[in-house]
This record gives sequence, C-alpha cells and structure tokens, in this order.
Amino acid sequence: MKRVLITGAAGFLGSHLCDRFIKEGYYVIGMDNLITGDLKNIEHLFKLENFEFAHHDVSKFVFVPGQLDYILHFASPASPIDYLKIPIQTLKVGSLGTHNLLGLAKAKKACMLIASTSEVYGDPQVHPQTENYWGNVNPVGPRGVYDEAKRFQEAITMAYHTFHGVDTKIVRIFNTYGPRMRLNDGRVLPAFIGQALRGEDLTIFGDGSQTRSFCYVDDLVEGIYRLLLSDYHQPVNIGNPSEITISQFAEEIIKLTGTNQKVIYKDLPVDDPKQRQPDISRAREILGWEPKVSREEGLKITYDYFRSLSKEELYKSKHRFE
Ligand code: UDP
Repeated sequence: MKRVLITGAAGFLGSHLCDRFIKEGYYVIGMDNLITGDLKNIEHLFKLENFEFAHHDVSKFVFVPGQLDYILHFASPASPIDYLKIPIQTLKVGSLGTHNLLGLAKAKKACMLIASTSEVYGDPQVHPQTENYWGNVNPVGPRGVYDEAKRFQEAITMAYHTFHGVDTKIVRIFNTYGPRMRLNDGRVLPAFIGQALRGEDLTIFGDGSQTRSFCYVDDLVEGIYRLLLSDYHQPVNIGNPSEITISQFAEEIIKLTGTNQKVIYKDLPVDDPKQRQPDISRAREILGWEPKVSREEGLKITYDYFRSLSKEELYKSKHRFE
C-alpha cells in the first residue's frame, strides 16, 4: 500500500485530499497543528485502518516513521483574514515547513507536491495569468507574508528538485470553494453565504468590479491528483477560468439563497488584486485536465453544506476573528 503524508489535513483542501487518497486505496497520514484546521473535517476518517492523524506543526522538525511515497504540503493559513492575524506562522509554514518536508521527502525518496497559489502573481498585470508570468507582488504589504512565503516555497522546492533530484510538483491554486470552507475564514463565498443565512447585508469590498474565477473543490482535487502522478516539475495553474466580478457573484448568492439581502460597500483591502483568471492551457495539455463542475452546480452543493450547519455555528462564526 502506498503511503502518503498530507499536511493541513484538517483544513478545507487537505481534508478533501485525504478523502480522495483514501478512496484511491492509499495509507494516509494526516498532519495538522489545528490553528486554522478543524478535526470535524476528518473525523469520519478516524475509524479507518488506512488513516492516522498526527497533531504537529510542520514548521518544527517532522518525523514520520516507515516508508513514505508521497508528501502533499497543504498546511498554511490561506485567507487574507487568517494570514493578517497570524503573519509569522504563515511565513514559517511556507518557508521552514516546506524546508522540513523537502528534507523528509529527500530522506524517504518520496515525491513531494506543494500547494502554491495564484497569489504568486500578486495584483497581476497579465491577464489571464499564465505560468510564465512572474507576478506583481508587494513584499511588504499585508499580503506579502503569504505571497512571499509561497514564492519562497516554489524556489526552495525547485532547488531541491534540481540540486538534490527530489521528485517535486508545484500546483498554483486559484480561488476554490466547496463544503468544509470555514464560515469565518473571511473569504468572499463563506462571507456572503453566512451573511445571507443570518439575514445580514452582503459586504462588497470596493466597488465590486474586481474579478475572481471560482473552482469547485472536486475539480481542483482531480487536477492535483493528476499532477502528482505526472512527471512534470514546473508550476501548473489549477483553477476554473470562468471569471466573474464580485458584484455579479453577490447577485448569484442572493439568487441562490432566495433571500432579499441588500449589498453594502466597504473599503477595498490594501493590495486586493483587481482581476484574476487562470490560463489553464498547461494543465489541459500536460494533465488532460479541465474543470467539469459549473458554478451553478458547485454553489448549490456548497450552499446545502452551509445550510446544514447548526445555528450556533452560524452565529459563532461571525466573531471568531473579530
Ligand atoms: N470580498 C468582498 N466581501 C467580503 C469578502 C471578500 O467583496 O465579505 C472580496 C475581496 O475584497 C476580494 C474578493 O472578494 O476582492 C475575493 O476575496 P477572498 O478573500 O475570497 O480571496 P482573494 O482572492 O482576495 O484571496
């Protein structure tokens, strides 16, 4: 049985990856320090014989006994609100954490895939973003702690590949959504759905003309799975090219939830990218991958998930980071 270590296992993406690798018949070691992750996302796996959980911060030395075939490094705060609250941990998990895991990959002769991000493109001046674009990042702005950690992460991963011959993969993840997103992570989708469910106005930052392109989590996981099993070492964008303004997105959420919420306008956060859309030609060509789930379909599943949460969770979520 192949053994895979997934860091950030209790998070949104990590937990979906655990599910996928269990389904594919792997032995999964899920690791998380639970700063932003939640064990509820993986509690259904604890009864399985091919799953184990390790409560550990990968910024410190990582020890995993026995054989290891794959490492997927998905531990990191990943929403602007989170990494503004815990900037040092964000920098450490992307830099020190990645270094520790690359060392582990080298020692175990494991293949390592790192979760990079469209944030490496910053506020992009090339649209849509191709992997060859180097980006427009402000290193000392509020997003710098995340963006630069991820850029460093790509650099050290490539260095371990070229210098030590470690088998590495780099995925650049664009905005992704689905069940198990944290209601209070500050991201636009849980923010809007949470507001609609609580009967509050939807908060649009800026004038709402900024764009994003939202990918359903199952599509993302499929792309990552294919990339891991490929022999391609350069970065690959995985995301859904269907682009939408934040104002249009608010309208879609209002329609979806059948509420009559109003929208209100708040200040645009510093360095908030004005546009974002992945060019996925590379993923199409190398992985034969493209997204399959429409926004309409994906949003419905995600809304059903948020609706199933208790009232307590819905209201508690509002205050966690405030
Ligand atoms: N946004 C918004 N209202 C909110 C939360 C976010 O208008 O309550 C905007 C945010 O300013 C950004 C976009 O929605 O332009 C996506 O934000 P998110 O935090 O989801 O991710 P980002 O792509 O900025 O990392």
